[in-house]
Amino acid sequence: MSDKQRIAVLGSTGSIGVNTLDVLARHPEQFEVFALTASTRVDEMLAQCLRFKPVFAVMASQAHGAQLQERCSAAGLPTRVLIGPEHIAAVARDERVDMVMAAIVGAAGLASCMAAARAGKRLLLANKEALVVGGEVFLAAVREGGAQLLPIDSEHSAIFQSLPDDAATWPRVIDKLLLTASGGPFRERDPATLCDVTPEQACAHPNWAMGRKISVDSATMMNKALEVIEARYLFGVSPEQIEVVIHPQSVIHSMVQYRDNSIVAQMGTPDMRVPIAYGLSWPLRMESGASSLDFAGLAALSFESAKSPAHQARFPGLKLAWQVLRAAVGTPAILNAANEVAVAAFLERRIRFDQIHAVNEQTLAAVSAGRANSLEDLLALDAQARRVGTDLVHRLGQH
Ligand code: NAD
Ligand code: MG
Repeated sequence: MSDKQRIAVLGSTGSIGVNTLDVLARHPEQFEVFALTASTRVDEMLAQCLRFKPVFAVMASQAHGAQLQERCSAAGLPTRVLIGPEHIAAVARDERVDMVMAAIVGAAGLASCMAAARAGKRLLLANKEALVVGGEVFLAAVREGGAQLLPIDSEHSAIFQSLPDDAATWPRVIDKLLLTASGGPFRERDPATLCDVTPEQACAHPNWAMGRKISVDSATMMNKALEVIEARYLFGVSPEQIEVVIHPQSVIHSMVQYRDNSIVAQMGTPDMRVPIAYGLSWPLRMESGASSLDFAGLAALSFESAKSPAHQARFPGLKLAWQVLRAAVGTPAILNAANEVAVAAFLERRIRFDQIHAVNEQTLAAVSAGRANSLEDLLALDAQARRVGTDLVHRLGQH
């Protein structure tokens, strides 16, 4: 067997998946693509199989999996095509795999993250919703499995890069984590006109090209709310130690403020290949494909408080992060489920943009967390919140 690192890329046809394959292709001597997984995009998956020749390609959807099977065998590919979500978890825990890139969107990625964590993999986490839903249960699986959880979200990678290597010192040295946020496409929009926003406008992010769900989350700033929750779990700080700073240029990707008020920031061009390459090569560094920052070409770096009355009116969902972190264990899972249902309904034009927040708030009010001690408890809570959110969407859609 070769001494290359074998990697499973979960969600390989998405924005993070494609960026990951771009980085991996720059280092063929170091990495071997063992498995690719996707939901429905057969053409993209076939092209990736032709290029990377993985041992396994998994499609979550039956119909699309059958198509891929046919086309892979017609092309004479050695890749084995597996169909169904249970096989995504199976490749994530396969003993031949060293690293797992978790780049599925939404709570759908939780089971495979848990599988990778329990099997002790290096787990590169882009799929923030999995950690928001899984919370302490997810972290316990990482600890017990002896996995290495490394953040891929640019803000969390920036914080990780700005912290000392020895995580045991973090509680003694950290004062605050300063998460930066671009403010998305509606940073300057009159809050009274948010009801007119179309999916196309919401998905047109000024600085980043991303999947549709996270693009809408960036426009509502629910993405930042999810990231506050993610930061709380990844770095073990209290919710009060996390602050959001609006920084429209997306040059500083986040910062750590230490006890002595010294601040360490991580900077670079907005390109997800940087945090991806860092996760793959940690604790070393390797070429990512990103261009270097041109300081002379930067007009200015500016900052705004996310707490100004105008931003609170524009982004009412942001404060829900602290609310759910202070509530019963499991409450973040309810918020995440409601938001997934609401964003999907908005993208299908069944509710208005401003109603995403209404669905989130009302689902939180209607569902209580109850037991949240296991993956099964959390998936049941997720399902319950989805039912409530779906009812709310139907009612809102009738008006
Ligand atoms: P995307 O929509 O572009 O891709 C999602 C991938 O997941 C696709 O490969 C799709 O086939 C797969 N998938 C979707 N639903 C699935 C299901 N039910 N079962 C199995 N596979 C499924 O999304 P993205 O923008 O690449 O984001 C992926 C994750 O990374 C999200 O959690 C997002 O918040 C996070 N993230 C993305 C970015 C970014 O720049 N795109 C930055 C930071 C974090
Ligand atoms: Mg981010």
